[in-house]
Amino acid sequence: MKIGIVGCAGRMGRMLIQTVLETQGCTLGGGTERPGSDALGQDLGALAGVPAVGIAVSGDSLALFGACDAIIDFTGPAATAAHAVLALETATALVVGTTGLDEAQRQALARAARKTVVVQAANMSVGVNLLLGLTRQVASILGDDYDIEVVEMHHRHKVDAPSGTALALGEAAAAGRGVRLEEVSQRGRDGHTGPRGKGDIGFATLRGGDVVGEHTVIFATDGERVELTHKAASRAVFAKGAVRAALWTQQGAPPGLYSMRDVLGFSKSP
Ligand code: NAD
Repeated sequence: MKIGIVGCAGRMGRMLIQTVLETQGCTLGGGTERPGSDALGQDLGALAGVPAVGIAVSGDSLALFGACDAIIDFTGPAATAAHAVLALETATALVVGTTGLDEAQRQALARAARKTVVVQAANMSVGVNLLLGLTRQVASILGDDYDIEVVEMHHRHKVDAPSGTALALGEAAAAGRGVRLEEVSQRGRDGHTGPRGKGDIGFATLRGGDVVGEHTVIFATDGERVELTHKAASRAVFAKGAVRAALWTQQGAPPGLYSMRDVLGFSKSP
């Protein structure tokens, strides 16, 4: 199958080029960048630091969607919403790793999913998807005298906060407790905040250096604390997950919006 990469000169885009080239069962169909990008016209292999592949970075996303079986998108929210329209028009499978989407942008993905297979996950690594399930399970076992806090750290270039993964972990904890995250989420402590609200799920964001992604869910009560932690040491784990998702889109699932739990087969476990 042919995989195309939109945003192919980004941090994830370059890693995705390399991963597609290294993965059996797929070929690289091409890559696009935003108008004005210095990468336009460069060889995709050179971008990824591997030998030239004879395909230049293009600015024509519609042509890429038309030429590929699946597209992998790690760009930004506005670009992802535009790509969802192209997926709908061309009925091309779409794998979305972009985080920070608003409601209208999520709706654009849902519309595409009526016509084609869309996989969306704030985190494509096996480990974080396992952590999501564990967080839900632990939250369902421990009562609300255990205070839940989600702490994350990422590199200095990340533009959204808290990370999409931190929010997904908050959702998993809220689901385990049988509450809605919007009603208990505490995202902005600053100044005289008063005591912690019982049942709140708090978020703390750290940014700095080249940290690929670290997340901890803390369950703290009087006298003890349980901490679930995942640390990504390389973007390769996200890229491998995304390519696995792209291959999965061709394995017969009907049009719809899927998560990495579906791709990894976790949705079949209790
Ligand atoms: P980045 O800024 O390095 O890369 C984004 C690339 O997209 C840039 O090269 C940019 O020029 C390009 N782009 C923007 N608009 C475009 C358009 N219309 N057409 C084509 N290309 C376009 O960012 P990054 O660190 O690679 O992260 C990208 C996104 O992926 C972020 O939202 C990040 O949070 C998310 N992310 C998700 C996971 C996951 O596992 N789901 C992992 C890492 C990063």
